[in-house]
Amino acid sequence: MAATSDTNGTSIHHDAIKRLPDAFYDDFLSDLAKERKPSAIRSLFPLEKTPGLISLLAGKPNASTFPFTSLTFNARSPINPEEETTLTVSGDDLAQGLQYGDTAGLKALLDWLHGLQERNHGRKSGEGWRISIGSGSQDLIYKAVAAMVNPGDSVLVESPVYAGVIPMFHSLHCNQIEVNTDSQGIQSASLRTILEQWPEGTPKPKVLYTVPYGCNPTGMTATLERRKEVLKLAREHNFIILEDDPYFYLYYGKAPRYPSYFALELEEPEVGRVLRFDSLSKILSAGIRIGFASGPEALLKAIDQHTATSNLQTSSLTQAIVFKLLDSWGYEGFRIHTERVSAFYAAKRDVFERAMNKYLTGLAEWSTPEAGMFFWFKLRLNDTPDADAHADSGDSAAVIRTKAVEKGVLALPGTVFLPNGRATPYVRASFSLIGEEDVDKAIQRLRDAILDARVA
Ligand code: PMP
Repeated sequence: MAATSDTNGTSIHHDAIKRLPDAFYDDFLSDLAKERKPSAIRSLFPLEKTPGLISLLAGKPNASTFPFTSLTFNARSPINPEEETTLTVSGDDLAQGLQYGDTAGLKALLDWLHGLQERNHGRKSGEGWRISIGSGSQDLIYKAVAAMVNPGDSVLVESPVYAGVIPMFHSLHCNQIEVNTDSQGIQSASLRTILEQWPEGTPKPKVLYTVPYGCNPTGMTATLERRKEVLKLAREHNFIILEDDPYFYLYYGKAPRYPSYFALELEEPEVGRVLRFDSLSKILSAGIRIGFASGPEALLKAIDQHTATSNLQTSSLTQAIVFKLLDSWGYEGFRIHTERVSAFYAAKRDVFERAMNKYLTGLAEWSTPEAGMFFWFKLRLNDTPDADAHADSGDSAAVIRTKAVEKGVLALPGTVFLPNGRATPYVRASFSLIGEEDVDKAIQRLRDAILDARVA
């Protein structure tokens, strides 16, 4: 029996993996997704590769009329960032990069990413899942949500939640059910209560959205125990986990990395309840706009059909560039590079927290993030004893939107990360860009703003 170890050291017997049948997803697809028809042209693209077949199919422009003859770029070596390597996209690779391509993505890049998922999440190709590439993970998350929810459906969202998904759910007229989180991730006990007390006769939520590593905005990383509990609840209450994990490679905690939901579900009786989103934005480039979704065929097909009717595909050229780079690095080079990136953010976190300790002790409270690029802290806007008793009372919005800006520092009030927009004393501060020389100044300005608010 073929067995591999997952990231948790558990032995996974791949021959024994059972996957949920395609028909299972019928109940999870939105009316919109069910009504979409495959693109008449794009669905025949793969046939064009049949040897001997003459294609009069697609309205592809003739590449001989394109002005680009080769594309050369320099990239840092992952081993020694001082060293640069020159890479060239030319010949067939360039021809593919300049032409329309398959909706799900460039085959070479898809194959490379499959290998990456196998290494990092223990998921083997051919075991009922695949990948689609998108123009950033945002593109894919939106398409996934649109493929799964109908107006009026309830969806579970961790709270506070990535502000970029609130308008998605809102515009699709979903009922967003907030699930509380803390420094250990989703409070699975609250989630259980919500689900067990779900009103009879009302359809249960089909999806749960979560950011398990270095959450945006809270910085929290979900513990193994919480992940397992959430996965168990997904099975018991029949929902799909949308695992949005752009900070997976920005983990710098002391404990060994926890397995992703995508990896952990291999220990479930049946796999297929996790739709995972990765992003290259934080590790290669945000402007290059490449993200990828990994999960069951039925859901990815629905995403692809959306793509085929909207932007047709992710830019072939950026995929060709990214493939050239990743292929030259290999998986080991990628590992070394991403470890360097995470060490960079760990150092930034340390500098930032030192200044917070120095200037905000007694004025704010926080947990130390172990991944990502955010501090999420609670302002103590008064010293009255009930400030602690009502842990989440208070409103950071006025302090952050007016006083802090007047003092010369910009951050985000926590209210923007709450689907119902209620007041909260929390603030999100991003430490990804700030230079070391400005950290003290920024935190002192925040302190001055809080002190002003306390006097007022
Ligand atoms: N999800 C989360 C949690 C994010 O923080 C971001 C970027 N801010 C995205 C998705 C979108 O990333 P991408 O650039 O891959 O579209």
